[in-house]
Amino acid sequence: MSRPTFADIRLDHLVHNYRLAKSHHGGNALATIKANAYGHGAIACAEALHEEADGFAVAAIEEAIQLRQAGITKPILLLEGFFEPAELALINQYDFWTAVHHRWQVDAILNASNLKAPINVWLKMDSGMHRVGIHPSEYRAVWQALEASGKVSKLTKMTHFARADEPNVDATTKQIRTFELNTEGLEGDSSICNSPAILAWSDAYRQWARPGIMLYGATPFSEPQPLAAQLKPVMQLTAGVIGVRELPAGEPIGYGARFITETPTKVGVVSCGYADGYPRLAKTGTPVMIDGHMSRLIGRVSMDMLTVDLTNVPNAGIGSRVELWGDLIPVSTVAESAGTIPYEILCNVKRAHFRYSGK
Ligand SMILES: *Cc1c(COP(=O)(O)O)cnc(C)c1O
Repeated sequence: MSRPTFADIRLDHLVHNYRLAKSHHGGNALATIKANAYGHGAIACAEALHEEADGFAVAAIEEAIQLRQAGITKPILLLEGFFEPAELALINQYDFWTAVHHRWQVDAILNASNLKAPINVWLKMDSGMHRVGIHPSEYRAVWQALEASGKVSKLTKMTHFARADEPNVDATTKQIRTFELNTEGLEGDSSICNSPAILAWSDAYRQWARPGIMLYGATPFSEPQPLAAQLKPVMQLTAGVIGVRELPAGEPIGYGARFITETPTKVGVVSCGYADGYPRLAKTGTPVMIDGHMSRLIGRVSMDMLTVDLTNVPNAGIGSRVELWGDLIPVSTVAESAGTIPYEILCNVKRAHFRYSGK
């Protein structure tokens, strides 16, 4: 017997979503599997996509090394680049591709005295997000310096959007224009699109896409979107009812007595809490599916348990299965109820038993 809390991962859905991203964008697509593949398990996801992915993208070299050690031979891009010049030796050793987003990284490459081989560099421009990236006015000179250095095997132009999930703002169009203006005439591939851009900004399609959240079947948009509707959820988070309580009207439930029964209520205690990644800030009323019937979260989520309303769920009791998100309840609905985004919710999933299928 073990705690009946499961993250079921559908690898066939992951492959479906990757194909959708790649075919819609065209060209090549790096599957973004940073943060343990947004909580889904980076090695399992990389293995499932290995045959057809053009490569993978992660945030940090530790993540990339784990993938190599697990036998992943496809290109792996370090989206944040390296964090100290000493990592260049590992980049050589494991044959990683690296983003370069800051002047000090440029200098580290230009000044490197013992590179074993030239490095594949994705030179990132800050086209308007103002987080990382080379300033547009310096981009051309930096590009040319790297090109002339003999230390770079291939240079790819790259930028990242701040607001691609908002279809009606002109910030994205401005970023595309800034990128184009300041890379004009520089020979090589480009990469702009994250998931929302793949789904909604065809002006930004170039040689390489970098889909992340859409691979996991979650929409980056707050409104329905036709292409996002074709994504299939990869994770289903389920738990079991481990306690049942019949309460009269007027009784509090859980920490802080945040919920008081208004009518006689049958309460189910479910084996999932914020230590499993279910968001503590999810509000009373967040949908849950119990043995195939729609119901709701009631009261505060605690570390290991949460409480749901069983009143109108026929035959519900100990052992009933509760879907917290997955096939029937979009993770984005839960995220919205908790005042956050599906990215954060998925990254936080842990402790649940992971079960993989579809491959
Ligand atoms: C995380 C990340 C992506 C993927 O973004 P999604 O919105 O999840 O598709 C792409 N590019 C960069 C630079 C990133 O950091």
